[in-house]
Amino acid sequence: MGHKQGRVSDEEYESRYLAILKAAPAGAWTWLYTQGLEEGEVKVLCYCPLHKPFCHTEILIRYAIANLPTMFKADSQDEISDSESEL
Ligand SMILES: [Zn+2]
Repeated sequence: MGHKQGRVSDEEYESRYLAILKAAPAGAWTWLYTQGLEEGEVKVLCYCPLHKPFCHTEILIRYAIANLPTMFKADSQDEISDSESEL
């Protein structure tokens, strides 16, 4: 999207990415949810060299928690490591 090259601001990147998330079919979210049923959590991987609060996985997690609360809840410990985030 040009974000890494600095051509797209954080706000613009998030706006464009949210549009993609909103357009995702409901079945995609259900699929993601079912991936975590056995362990009770969904792990979302991030390949940022240094994971930062501004990351597409963070946007995805916030979106899922805010818009699909029956499926996704924040981890009570809000445990986010350098290499993975949990829903
Ligand atoms: Zn990241």
